[in-house]
Amino acid sequence: MAPNKKGKKIAKKGKSTTRHRPVPAVEGAYGNVLNDGRFECRLSVRRRPCGARMANESHNIRSHISKKHRVDSAYKKNQRTGNWPCTWADCMENGSTYSNFHSLVGHARSFHGMKGSSKALKKKSGNLLQKIRMEYQKKKREEQRQMEDDEDDGEDEPLFIDAPDYSDGNHGDKNQEDRDPPGTGGSQPIPVA
Ligand SMILES: [Zn+2]
Ligand SMILES: [Zn+2]
Repeated sequence: MAPNKKGKKIAKKGKSTTRHRPVPAVEGAYGNVLNDGRFECRLSVRRRPCGARMANESHNIRSHISKKHRVDSAYKKNQRTGNWPCTWADCMENGSTYSNFHSLVGHARSFHGMKGSSKALKKKSGNLLQKIRMEYQKKKREEQRQMEDDEDDGEDEPLFIDAPDYSDGNHGDKNQEDRDPPGTGGSQPIPVA
């Protein structure tokens, strides 16, 4: 009855080839490296994995994430699913939010290994939501301002040219203001085509 300790049996396990799986070039990026070496984004977009593929280089991945999954989408997701964004970095980039605080806490405990009180998380998540909203609004305002600037540029082209006659044979008639020209409803002078 020797105390034959087990636990030294690591020799045979699965296939013998020790394949080390390639990792995404950006640490914590949510996705897989495919057999061809490219990175496939698995961030969820409308509850489906994004599926975009790109070179497994950190700048490719970062640029994809910031273009396709930036704060804008986090905000939209908030609007749709809930107001409790997860405050861990990966989840923030993903825009993960929860419809109530309990779900967020559950997620934080199981997924991020959060322990103890959830008080701090509540505060952080609230602050994050505010930040997301503010950034979104700031971005909207900037877009708006840019659009207004663009409109100003085209201002020297008037919408209506001044057309003093209605081209039905009454040139110079001083009463023409009072008449309803046929077919226009009489409201506005329309430019001659
Ligand atoms: Zn993506
Ligand atoms: Zn999370």
